[in-house]
Amino acid sequence: MSIAQNIHEIKKRLPSEVKLVAVSKFHPIEAIEEAVAAGQMVFGENRPQEFEKKALSLEGRGIEWHFIGHLQTNKLKMVLPYASLVQSVDSLHLLEAVNEWGARNGKVINVLLEMHVAAEATKQGFYDEEVLDILFRAESYKNIRFCGLMGMATNTDEQDDIRADFGRIKAFMDYLRDLFPELTDFKELSIGMSGDWPVAVEFGATIVRIGTAIFGERA
Ligand SMILES: *Cc1c(COP(=O)(O)O)cnc(C)c1O
Repeated sequence: MSIAQNIHEIKKRLPSEVKLVAVSKFHPIEAIEEAVAAGQMVFGENRPQEFEKKALSLEGRGIEWHFIGHLQTNKLKMVLPYASLVQSVDSLHLLEAVNEWGARNGKVINVLLEMHVAAEATKQGFYDEEVLDILFRAESYKNIRFCGLMGMATNTDEQDDIRADFGRIKAFMDYLRDLFPELTDFKELSIGMSGDWPVAVEFGATIVRIGTAIFGERA
């Protein structure tokens, strides 16, 4: 199937209030243009250099760019000028650097806190207590807008494990929204990729990040 057909198939099944981020990492500009022609306007990239290059070469096309990868503090200037949402803030060190960059550049940066939900030891992200510590001090981050949580389920075919991961992050999201009603922007739950997005939608995803099911396998 073509990129356009893949997008249409996903959109048919995706509730209209859930935002589809087309993850275009490793795919060429032409693939993004094909998706744009099919009406897809939100894209995610995970490597700073590639993100900046694509954002610059497609400037003026009205694309909404999300950064979804590990971000080192020396690469902020490749990402923050173009990102509508940084989904992958995964350490206090990074959060503080983003806040300082925002202060220096007169911008408020939209971020999701990436949570450690999967069983794999390698997955980046915060634990519950760390997120709580940050949100209790949310006001001190003047140049950060806390928009919600991002998480990746365990990489497995075991539906029960995926459901357990999504169930935990969804429950924590609901808990945080109750605890911090003053954080009115804190409402996005970015869970779900090509292999598990329908399950993520069942668990209240407001954003899904889909690469392979749109663009095919990455080189
Ligand atoms: C690559 C990537 C995706 C998309 O993965 P697919 O399985 O190709 O849909 C989603 N989220 C993050 C954080 C990624 O790095």
